[in-house]
Formats: sequence, structure tokens, C-alpha cells
Amino acid sequence: ETLDKGLEKSKSSFFTKLSKAVAGKAKVDDDVLDNLEEVLVSSDVGVDTTLKIIDRIEERVARDKYLGTEELNQILRDEIAGLLSETNVGEETEFTVPADKKPYVLMVVGVNGVGKTTTIGKLASQFKKQGLKVVLGAADTFRAAAIDQLQVWADRTGVPIVRQEMGSDPASVAFDTLTSAVTQEADVVIIDTAGRLHNKVNLMNELTKIKRVMQKVVADAPHDVLLVLDGSTGQNAFEQAKQFTKATEVTSLAVTKLDGTAKGGVVIGISDQFQIPVKYIGVGEGIDDLQVFNKHEFVDSFFN
Ligand code: GDP
Repeated sequence: ETLDKGLEKSKSSFFTKLSKAVAGKAKVDDDVLDNLEEVLVSSDVGVDTTLKIIDRIEERVARDKYLGTEELNQILRDEIAGLLSETNVGEETEFTVPADKKPYVLMVVGVNGVGKTTTIGKLASQFKKQGLKVVLGAADTFRAAAIDQLQVWADRTGVPIVRQEMGSDPASVAFDTLTSAVTQEADVVIIDTAGRLHNKVNLMNELTKIKRVMQKVVADAPHDVLLVLDGSTGQNAFEQAKQFTKATEVTSLAVTKLDGTAKGGVVIGISDQFQIPVKYIGVGEGIDDLQVFNKHEFVDSFFN
């Protein structure tokens, strides 16, 4: 219900555009395919993924000779679900800590402004509600505001935070956080990292160092590297995914601000292009406005 509400904008826009694409047509022809291509691209699905979808529909048209426009919805739905299924969690509704990974170390990356801190705060709140013991690490030491912002979320959620002063070594903060988490027998550690992309070598070095130092405390840390992307920024989100996957091994994605955009298609394109599972989607600024991504609900929100 909340998901539907959060994605209202994406849904109505996609659906409206889709209806326009087939208006006055009984069957799928070149015109419909051209219009559909435009709808997908303008919904930020991305050109490569759009062409993949169009190709498959063309194959269907060639095979079946006749394809009604009312069947097109179902086919699109299946195609989109298919693109998501290879990479996405699917049925799960909440995160569970694997028994052999305690503390579970989640390292969060992404550029400033995408909603990284907010996502960490929302996650801390969810995990705590599940009865998990959480510790936050303020390893974005580049900006004083980043540390203060994370502190606000720590206070708000009642979750302990490990921090040092601005400018201190991020790896040292991460080390302290994990040490503290082990001592407290925490279940989950969430490490915030600096969001600078302008210097790729620095970014890579910094993330590599944080990982290496964390492994002195928890040998197989981090268990998850979560990249946060702003779903309303379209091509920028694609570009950031490209840069971060070059700089480090990204293992999951959170796509934020899907409530404020008519372009939820970015989730489809990014899943397809990068083959990294979307684990969470942000659908608002509030503490509860983060959902574990469920592809069935997501596809339904577009087509129902
Ligand atoms: P950071 O610089 O990446 O840490 O970004 P912040 O977490 O400070 O978020 C930047 C802005 O985006 C803040 O105003 C947040 O409230 C807002 N924000 C974060 N996630 C969402 C979301 O899912 N939906 C909406 N509408 N706003 C969000």
C-alpha cells in the first residue's frame, strides 16, 4: 500500500504514456513499437535495456504475426519482471543476518546528496525494530556535516555511533566501529563512507583501505557494499553506478527518491545493466519510507 503510494508518480506517468503509445491501435506495429521505445527511454529505463525489451517484443510479433495491444501489457510486464529476476531478491520482506556473519558489516557508498545518510538512518531503524543490535560508523570524515547528520540519525533511532573528528582517517573510524561492535556483540554494523567521485583513484584507494583495515577485525568484512543512487537523476545514476563499480565491488543497490520522480524505470535499467540486485528503494523522507525491494510489487505498481 505504501509502495503504491510512494510510486504513484512513476506509475501514473508510465501508464499514461503507455496508453498513449497504443492509442487507436488494435495491434502492435512499428508505430506502437516506436512510441513504446520513447516511453521506456523517457521513463529512464536506459537505451540499452529499452532496445533489449523492444527486440523481444519484435521477436514475438514476428513469431505470432499478430500481437494485440492488450496483450502488450502482459508481455511488457513479463519482460520487465524477467530483467529484474536475474538480479533481485524477490520475495523477501526483511533483511536477516546470516548466522555465520555476526556482526554483519554493511558498507554504504554513494555520492553526496543521493540520500546515503537518510538510507542508513532508515536501515538502522528497521534493523532495530527487528530486534537487531546495530552500530553506526561515521567514516565519511571529509565533511563535518556528514558526521553530524549521521549523529542526528543515531540519536533519532537510539543506535550507538562511533565517530572521530572531521579529517581523521576513515579506515581508523571503521576499525574502531567494528572493534566496538564485536565488544558489544552487535548484529549489524553500518559504515558510512565519503561520497567523493571527482578523484577516482582516491575513492578507490580509500575504499580499499577501509576494507583492508576492517578485515583486521572481521576477516570477511564487508559482507555487503551497498551503493545508494538517487532514482530521480536518471543518467547520473547510471554514471555513478559505472564509476562506483569500477572503484570497488558493489554487491547491492538502494535506489532513493522514487516517490518524487516520474521515472522509476531507472531501477529496471540499472538492474539489467549492472546485474547488481536492488535491495532497497526509498519512497519518501520519513524514517519508515524505505522498502525491501520486491520485484513483483514493483512491476505491479507500474501496471495495475
Ligand atoms: P547524503 O548526502 O547522500 O547523505 O543525502 P541525505 O541523506 O542527506 O539526503 C539528501 C536529501 O534527500 C534529504 O533532504 C533527504 O530527506 C532526501 N531524501 C533521501 N531519501 C529520500 C527518498 O527516498 N525520497 C525523498 N523524497 N527524499 C529523500
